Amino acid sequence: MPSLADFEAKYRVSGAGLSSRSAAFSRHWGTDRAPPKQVRARFTPSDILTSDDMTRCPLFVLPRRIALCGAEPFRAQSARWTLCVALTLSFLVILCGPLTPCAAQDAAQPASVILISLDTLRAGHLSAYGYTKIHTPHIDSFAQGGTLFAHAEAQIPLTLPSHLSLFTSTYPFQNLVEENGERVPAGVVTIASVLQSRGYKTAAFIGSDFLDRRYGLDRGFDDYDSPFANETTGVANPLAMRMRRDGALVVRAARQWLGAHRGQPVFVFVHLFDLHMPYTLPAEVARRQGISRYDAQLEYVDRLMGSFQQELVQSGWWEKSLVVLFGDHGEGLGDHQETDHGYYIYESTLHVPLIVHWPGKDRNSKLETGKSKLETRNSKFETGTSARDASSDFRFSSFDFRALSFTDRVETPAGLIDVAPTILDYLRISAPASFQGVSQLGALQAREPATPRAVYSESLYAHDAFGWASLRALRVGKYKYIQAPKAELYDLESDLREQVNLLHINAAMAAELQNELAKVLTRYAPSPRATPPALSPETLAELESLGYLAAEPRGKIENSGPDPKDRFAEFELYQSAFLAFLEEHTADALPKFQLILKSDPQNTLARFHLGECYLRLKKPQDALREWSTVLKLNPQYAPAAEAIGQYWLEQGDYTKARRRFQQVLALTPDSYGGHFQLAIADEHLGLLPEARQHLETACKIAPHDEDCARELKSLSQK
Ligand SMILES: [Zn+2]
Repeated sequence: MPSLADFEAKYRVSGAGLSSRSAAFSRHWGTDRAPPKQVRARFTPSDILTSDDMTRCPLFVLPRRIALCGAEPFRAQSARWTLCVALTLSFLVILCGPLTPCAAQDAAQPASVILISLDTLRAGHLSAYGYTKIHTPHIDSFAQGGTLFAHAEAQIPLTLPSHLSLFTSTYPFQNLVEENGERVPAGVVTIASVLQSRGYKTAAFIGSDFLDRRYGLDRGFDDYDSPFANETTGVANPLAMRMRRDGALVVRAARQWLGAHRGQPVFVFVHLFDLHMPYTLPAEVARRQGISRYDAQLEYVDRLMGSFQQELVQSGWWEKSLVVLFGDHGEGLGDHQETDHGYYIYESTLHVPLIVHWPGKDRNSKLETGKSKLETRNSKFETGTSARDASSDFRFSSFDFRALSFTDRVETPAGLIDVAPTILDYLRISAPASFQGVSQLGALQAREPATPRAVYSESLYAHDAFGWASLRALRVGKYKYIQAPKAELYDLESDLREQVNLLHINAAMAAELQNELAKVLTRYAPSPRATPPALSPETLAELESLGYLAAEPRGKIENSGPDPKDRFAEFELYQSAFLAFLEEHTADALPKFQLILKSDPQNTLARFHLGECYLRLKKPQDALREWSTVLKLNPQYAPAAEAIGQYWLEQGDYTKARRRFQQVLALTPDSYGGHFQLAIADEHLGLLPEARQHLETACKIAPHDEDCARELKSLSQK
């Protein structure tokens, strides 16, 4: 049985106002359907995966490719295809001219940017980073003629916060999106919005609901393709394909969009979610090869990247684009007992690949197979940081990039937070004042000596979910310090798996890094935010189904509480209990929640879900008792108040319901559920002006909620 972590149990929201019962509520009352997507892949996974595209020789579809003059993408997946590919390209060269003239028609334009996120990609599983159990020639080949960052670190091992940190070049503790499911604050400046303001056409192709547009990462994108079904159908099933889409679909959508936007500079974000549990390939695929399921998924992703790269080459985009490939975080895979990511901040989940392809590079390698590229790469890596000449005739309107040369490997640690400033620096665009990362371009061009860069990372999961201590880390050079009740210090050069805690052996270094960490936290401290952002009902349902409701708003006590290392067994039991609850094995879940509470009566989430178990078992009095206890232990925990309110609403006791929803709004003034349900209670009590006011507020919070609009219209006619 998969662990709850398979579903990214750390799909969580900080701050109260969420209700585990919002699923039942939204099923009954409301929906918040996603707006129509401008770009949408109209294929099913089987359409893609069984497509004979994968086996058809592109030579036979030549006419269509000639018409596009950059060639429709094709896939070369094996050595026997090399000949076929070469023949096709030969025809193209003859009939269309060399590919470079096709690209050269855009030579007066600034370089395009293609940003590829391979979600959950642990750097140490790429052969370019030294992995030997499988080969990843296609991903590795992105660095051919480009640059590989050997020690890139995610700032936070969670999908939305990590991407937001990269997009905004801000620290998670500064932008305050430190959990999945939180809403991107209004007005943030992203690399997409910067490039859009500079005339770039911008588009994103998303592989998972975690980055759905309703969380706000779509800012600055002309097209944001996240076609996930948001129908409210009760408790969302995180295994459902509607929560994600196959990488082949994502790549195809991106490819189609690129095909329709030639002749202008573009910023394209491509997000593949195939490495994230639950895995989509049958276990048999991995078993047959004697590799892990993660590695089997990675081989699949690698092939997708190979075909995508070839498509970019053939269509001319590769030549004229800055292509940046990265992982948003890694995967525990059992290191430090962590199977997935988000709980700890060890290198298994922080060390990510970061590979840059520079425009105008790699022109002589288009026909290489993945294998030969890999061989080329490995020999190159042995040479270390040799600066290489950029031989390119690719020009921009005012800047000749022939003058640039870049190192092929960067050993100095960097953060994903540095990606956006580096891209803008390359494009000769000033970084916004809000950016906190540092451009790596100087070091990349070897015109500046590599200086130790302090790289910050964090996880607040244990704190936000259970009230335990937060984890924060600072890496400088080879040393990494983890701030926790039981602090840790590691020498990553000799101990990449962080097995030997040097805290007491090198106390001076630990103290120095602790001091530096404090400086970072002070320097980038956020300005206070009035209230947590509100979320729509189906979002709340999904968050609930995926296992996270915050125990309390994060804040002043975050450095207190138990060390997450000491509570891992409890965390695992909670995951197991919640998975059983999620799968509606209530009789299995209930005793597990009880067992947690026996040793830790303060575990708010366990008690809250125990109440839900009782309600499912038609023991409402027991449920109310547990929720009331939650509120006694933690008066700030709005979900418990909302759950009680919903119970009374369903029972028709509107006075009691009203009181509870007022309590919800006192704790979380922007709660959609609080406003909507209070309006319903008010309406039943004949308090029509109050009902209208709360409905209007709810509809503002969830502008796409059809039921809210309908209810408001109905009320206005009374
Ligand atoms: Zn992720």
